[in-house]
Amino acid sequence: MQQRVAIYPGTFDPITNGHIDIICRASKLFDRLIVAVAYNPGKGPLFTVEERVEMITESLKDYSLTNVEVDSFSVLLTHYAKSKKATTVIRGLRAVSDFEYEFQMALMNRKLCKDVETVFMMPSESYTYLSSRIVKEIALYGGNVRCLVPPLVADRLEDKAKAFKVPGKE
Ligand code: ADP
Repeated sequence: MQQRVAIYPGTFDPITNGHIDIICRASKLFDRLIVAVAYNPGKGPLFTVEERVEMITESLKDYSLTNVEVDSFSVLLTHYAKSKKATTVIRGLRAVSDFEYEFQMALMNRKLCKDVETVFMMPSESYTYLSSRIVKEIALYGGNVRCLVPPLVADRLEDKAKAFKVPGKE
């Protein structure tokens, strides 16, 4: 029987507990789940793609998810999905505010490749307010993000915060 392969694509700059919640849920539904880090230079990521992949790989070691792999990609998502023989793209939906963008992306991806289906998953409600952007903002201004991200990610954010100069402050 053919394996059911799903891709969970994202910028993951950096991975948060919300992303991990979705990974754990999705891993139960598919034979293989590939967490795929998009280069996304347009988003001006804080971490390099190699750093993002490493943080995800290390963080997932705390969970027994034998069918989850981590990879990166810099091509069209539908081309990447086909190259991995994936038939499903997983995206997380936190609030209505995510919907419009995700809806547009899902339908565009369907237009580009009718064999790849997008599946939306909701995290535990305690993560619905959580985003990589908010985590970075809190961390870079010296706030504590330890309950929002894996321990290694919190360490890496603290290192970045030490090197970060708050605009307007000497
Ligand atoms: P992208 O730039 O592709 O939106 P992100 O890393 O911000 O990359 O998000 C990747 C996916 O994970 C998106 O589908 C996003 O909606 C979802 N996501 C992000 N944060 C959370 C969260 N706290 N709970 C559930 N899903 C989330």
